[in-house]
Amino acid sequence: MVRRIYHMQELIPGLPTTRSELWCLPHADPFAYTSPMRQLILILSRVLILALATAGSLFAQNDPEWTEPFPAFRIAGNLYYVGSRGLANYLVTTPQGNILINSDLEANVPLIQASIEKMGFKFKDTKILLISHAHWDHDAGSAKIKEMTGATYMVMDADVPVVESGGKADFQYGNRPEFLYPPAKVDRVLHDGDEVKLGGAVLVAHLTPGHTKGCTTWTMKVADGGKTHNVVIVGSPNVNPGYKLIHNNSYPQIAQDYQHMFDVLKSLPCDIFLGAHGGYFGLEEKYPHLKDGAANLFIDPDGYKKFVTEKEQEFRTELAKQTLSAK
Ligand SMILES: [Zn+2]
Repeated sequence: MVRRIYHMQELIPGLPTTRSELWCLPHADPFAYTSPMRQLILILSRVLILALATAGSLFAQNDPEWTEPFPAFRIAGNLYYVGSRGLANYLVTTPQGNILINSDLEANVPLIQASIEKMGFKFKDTKILLISHAHWDHDAGSAKIKEMTGATYMVMDADVPVVESGGKADFQYGNRPEFLYPPAKVDRVLHDGDEVKLGGAVLVAHLTPGHTKGCTTWTMKVADGGKTHNVVIVGSPNVNPGYKLIHNNSYPQIAQDYQHMFDVLKSLPCDIFLGAHGGYFGLEEKYPHLKDGAANLFIDPDGYKKFVTEKEQEFRTELAKQTLSAK
């Protein structure tokens, strides 16, 4: 998911899209005004444009919660939360080493390492690295983590070109330099339904496309307190600002893919509801209640169903809006 990253053009339709276009504005129809008035308009409009450009670059910054530390904790069984406040990472521990889901921004790598060590595990024991989807807030740190741990990087087929080009092959953000990152070599290409196995742990990769072409929802079973729980880690169901759901030349089947994604999410049995961002499943609300002997609020099958229903409704509303305005 991408939150709070808006350019002024997305917020105010009709705004010029490049800085050179911006600087062309004051020169429009210069003979319509007297000379001092022209001077004043020129100065005022330049001030306004500078303010807009500054606001634009502020809007392009990442959400500060993404790099804000969050306590590491055991969710259930051998599954741990090792992410920040805004970006979710999961560690699946096994006797033969560990599986890490998501690498986040490069700036998050030391936070992830510290969280893993706080839980009593070694960062270097990370044998497999997986991601939720190929957006910089989930995969920009992958090259660094591979280098530091030697982990095997496994990515869903349709996200591989994006990961290996450092974001340049992304259908939406490929030409936006601020969202590019160090490319990372994928060691194993995953396909829908593939299993990732290590030391008795089995994770299943479900292709849930739309948000990215290879967006992946991970499922696994976790044994805890004499019970086995179905875990779902949602890839992302969000339609980002600026996404074209119809007549999208760089992703023609995007709307069908979103619909397929919702059908897949609705078909998955879920006890423990997780996702690529803590906001999906109420990380901050649920975490303080996690005490010995108390009910584990992360076991939330109803919350999962509600989330999927709401997100599907949001998608359908946006699709209807875009269909109407295309007519
Ligand atoms: Zn995303």
